[in-house]
Amino acid sequence: MDNSTNEKVRCLIIGSGPAGYTAAIYASRANLNPVLYEGIQPGGQLTTTTEVENFPGYPNGITGPELMEDLKKQAVRFGADIRMGIATASDLSSAPYKITIDGEKVIESEAVIISTGATAKYLGIPDEQKYAGMGVSACATCDGFFYRKKIVAVVGGGDTACEEAIYLSGLAKQVYLIVRKPYLRASKVMQERVFNTPNIIVLFEHNTIGLFGESGVEGAHLIKKMGQPDEEKVDIAIDGFFLAIGHKPNSDIFKEWLETDEIGYIKTIPGTPRTTVPGVFAAGDVADPIYRQAITAAGSGCKAAIEAERYLSEIGK
Ligand SMILES: Cc1cc2nc3c(=O)[nH]c(=O)nc-3n(C[C@H](O)[C@H](O)[C@H](O)COP(=O)(O)OP(=O)(O)OC[C@H]3O[C@@H](n4cnc5c(N)ncnc54)[C@H](O)[C@@H]3O)c2cc1C
Repeated sequence: MDNSTNEKVRCLIIGSGPAGYTAAIYASRANLNPVLYEGIQPGGQLTTTTEVENFPGYPNGITGPELMEDLKKQAVRFGADIRMGIATASDLSSAPYKITIDGEKVIESEAVIISTGATAKYLGIPDEQKYAGMGVSACATCDGFFYRKKIVAVVGGGDTACEEAIYLSGLAKQVYLIVRKPYLRASKVMQERVFNTPNIIVLFEHNTIGLFGESGVEGAHLIKKMGQPDEEKVDIAIDGFFLAIGHKPNSDIFKEWLETDEIGYIKTIPGTPRTTVPGVFAAGDVADPIYRQAITAAGSGCKAAIEAERYLSEIGK
């Protein structure tokens, strides 16, 4: 490693979603002179959506890209140093912690806020891209409201899929739960709740192979018992198609140093953004398998910056 490329900072923020920018606002206002690296998706997940109706403070809603631009401007206003670049390696063995950017430059930081988010898993069929924002969603809490009294499908067989189906059943007229296997992987309690909800129809042993519709999703092409002698093509009419087959937290480069759960979510001390390494904090979706909302991400970014400030003053840096 060429040390001549090293730069020393007090507070490094990795990621530019609601968690990262909120951390940057708080850290700048606390005079921590934060440096933030935006990563491959400046502005984070919300830049891929149109209307955001549930972020407090916007009574008429706001588009995802506009909201993220506002958050960025607010961070810049207080002096946050926002840079292009991807964290490609980390050494959290001892402070100051070393984060490599774009495989070249090494930033040494006393405090590190990891806010690298999580990526929803998709089936990988081309129609998911074609209808992105036009009927395809990976978040029932975010988009369910747009499907009141309509017909939707949820793909998946685990607890999350059951939860999303139950949530949507309170809004939509009818919910199909499309399950690849002949059984649900979800807990018994969740299964029972699904089976006892009259407007959820579980389609066991169905695979989605495509979506159709003129200017948005109008239906899904399914195959029942795919690959078996009695395989059958089934089309269902739907207005919305919700993926609930899991998320991948963007935590790979930190796993050697931090405790993660079996999926890869960074474990934090409950109620705080503190990780098992002092001075290293995790905020937003990368540490949140449950809520995964912009406002909860922003809230935890705020907590992480406050914790970073306290930590730095405790160690006298
Ligand atoms: C289509 C869609 C619609 C949504 N709608 C809503 C909604 O209406 N309301 C709502 O509350 N929530 C919504 N969400 C969820 C919301 O977007 C997330 O909960 C929120 O963005 C999480 O914020 P975050 O800061 O944790 O991470 P993210 O927004 O995921 O951002 C992660 C950031 O980390 C960066 N990054 C990743 N790896 C690295 C690395 N190695 N180095 C540097 N940077 C890195 C990325 O470039 C990105 O900037 C939606 C999500 C999607 C996908």
